[in-house]
Amino acid sequence: MRLQGKFAAVTGAAMGMGKCIAELFAAEGATVAVTDINLPMAEEVVAGIKAKGGKAQAWHLDVTGRAEVKRVIAEIVERFGKLDVWVNNAGISTMTPFLDITPQEWDKMHAVSGSGVFFCSQEIARHMVRLGVPGKIINNASMAGKRGGNAPFLAHYVYTKFGVVGLTQAMAKELAAHKITVNAVCPGYVATPMQERELVWEGRLRGMTTEQVFQSYIADTPLGRIEYPEDVAKVILFLASSDADFITGEAINVNGGAWMD
Ligand code: NAD
Repeated sequence: MRLQGKFAAVTGAAMGMGKCIAELFAAEGATVAVTDINLPMAEEVVAGIKAKGGKAQAWHLDVTGRAEVKRVIAEIVERFGKLDVWVNNAGISTMTPFLDITPQEWDKMHAVSGSGVFFCSQEIARHMVRLGVPGKIINNASMAGKRGGNAPFLAHYVYTKFGVVGLTQAMAKELAAHKITVNAVCPGYVATPMQERELVWEGRLRGMTTEQVFQSYIADTPLGRIEYPEDVAKVILFLASSDADFITGEAINVNGGAWMD
């Protein structure tokens, strides 16, 4: 029980990695705020956690809305009394050749993966500072946040994820004085609903079948298999636990060796 008595929140927790992180946190003793734009599915995640004896509550939270972020974070902190761990996991992807990316597509990506991380981190950090809580903020970045030259059709995504890695370092430096650590993880090819969509898009753009694209992901991964949400959730659990108390400003590769630095 590595998060016994802790209070945590995860964005984009209705499916994929966010769901897995919320479930693992709850299994490790945390009370979890399961937040997402998809409230019905977030409520299903909460029901699953409760069925196993865990503690969780669902909130609608669109990370792109400054006012909603402010209101929901205030509600979560008030309901729980404090918050020890915040995970910025919500993200979107679209695959488009660079020459065809529209300003709308660019702005939408920035709103979710750029501004969303900023809004949530600033707001939760303000509460942590006010309450004197030694908090932990963890960002789900991406391998694409470190290797822009090998993430085809994802220039807008690459831009935001490089930003998340940089913001992680900048926040870690400034928030250290308040005993708040800020770290990121950089997953590779993770089997989630996002990946299912990307397999289809990339297949179309490359003239390959989805199975061929899937096999190319495995071929690009030295450890020789697709990555699972659990692979990432376990590292985020470590960063959320007291075992990582003296780690801040890191962006940890969790990708089976697909990118090493
Ligand atoms: P997913 O699409 O399977 O799930 C994303 C969740 O985020 C969904 O529940 C969705 O409703 C929610 N969401 C979308 N927009 C939102 C918003 N504006 N506000 C709040 N919630 C919102 O994605 P995933 O694969 O689980 O990805 C999770 C994170 O990991 C993302 O930040 C993604 O960029 C990153 N990532 C994914 C992969 C991968 O291969 N799947 C690899 C590296 C990094």
